[in-house]
Amino acid sequence: MKFADLHLHTFYSDGTYSPEELAARASRAGFAAISLTDHDTLEGCPATAEACKTAGIEFIPGTELTAEIDDHEIHLLGYGIDASHTELSRQMAKFQHVRQDRIREMVARLNRLNIPLQAEDVFTLANCRSPGRPHVGRALVAAGFCSGIDEAFERFLKKHRPAWVPKYKMSVSQAIQLIHDAGGLAVLAHPGLSRIDDYLPLLAGGGLDGLECFHSQHSATQTERYQLLARQYHLLITGGSDCHGRSRGKPTLGSVRLPMEFVDLLKDRWELLKGSPERTQSIEVSPPA
Ligand code: AMP
Ligand code: ZN
Ligand code: FE
Ligand code: FE
Repeated sequence: MKFADLHLHTFYSDGTYSPEELAARASRAGFAAISLTDHDTLEGCPATAEACKTAGIEFIPGTELTAEIDDHEIHLLGYGIDASHTELSRQMAKFQHVRQDRIREMVARLNRLNIPLQAEDVFTLANCRSPGRPHVGRALVAAGFCSGIDEAFERFLKKHRPAWVPKYKMSVSQAIQLIHDAGGLAVLAHPGLSRIDDYLPLLAGGGLDGLECFHSQHSATQTERYQLLARQYHLLITGGSDCHGRSRGKPTLGSVRLPMEFVDLLKDRWELLKGSPERTQSIEVSPPA
């Protein structure tokens, strides 16, 4: 049987592998197809595509965007998007800018806690346009302020911890629209971590294409349940490890193996829908009663 991993990061965002290392490891782990889904960027896709070609692996270009629904943060995976789409490039440049400003603000908060880290330390370590909290965590570890990334998140970076800064997020409708306009499919990432099951009917009605049922942090029960929900709402079933490389202890590449039949269904839907722009409906969320 052939398998895929459709959720992976490189050092073009907060992963640690290069595109070449990622493709080589995916090949050694026996994958037939992978997708690169770096946060707010497609920059790593050309090099990963090239390395996958050499390794004889099928490559699907992707990205992971942050959005919100009713104050809940969600992550949307965009598959098969066109990197030359002007509006997408413009929006991604904006999200990257927002990420860089957020790093400066997190560092300022750390400084107020008498931790003399500099934003430049984080940027040098991140060495990418799409830096995030893991880079701040790694900089804290490198400078000896924390013993590990987990401690950095626990003490400073987790939501509502002292150096946490809320992130600008587009609405889920905007994110789905952006992915569709750029010719892609929009998939809700790791629903088991976002805990927004009540919104699934709304999202499906709003044009969401798929649900990431298989994920390294989903339990077997969650994986089963999300597959049932995906079938109920006519959503594609996808999956991936969300491997960030060596950043969090043991590498997770290989921990999720999505049967290729799901990739074939995704490709069929992509072929069918890429010529039809009218598939996003606005999502109206009524305020809580
Ligand atoms: P950001 O996009 O800057 O908000 O950072 C989110 C990223 O941080 C996620 O994609 C994960 O890779 C990582 N992350 C989130 N929570 C934790 C945690 N508790 N420990 C380690 N990494 C985390
Ligand atoms: Zn990440
Ligand atoms: Fe995510
Ligand atoms: Fe991810």
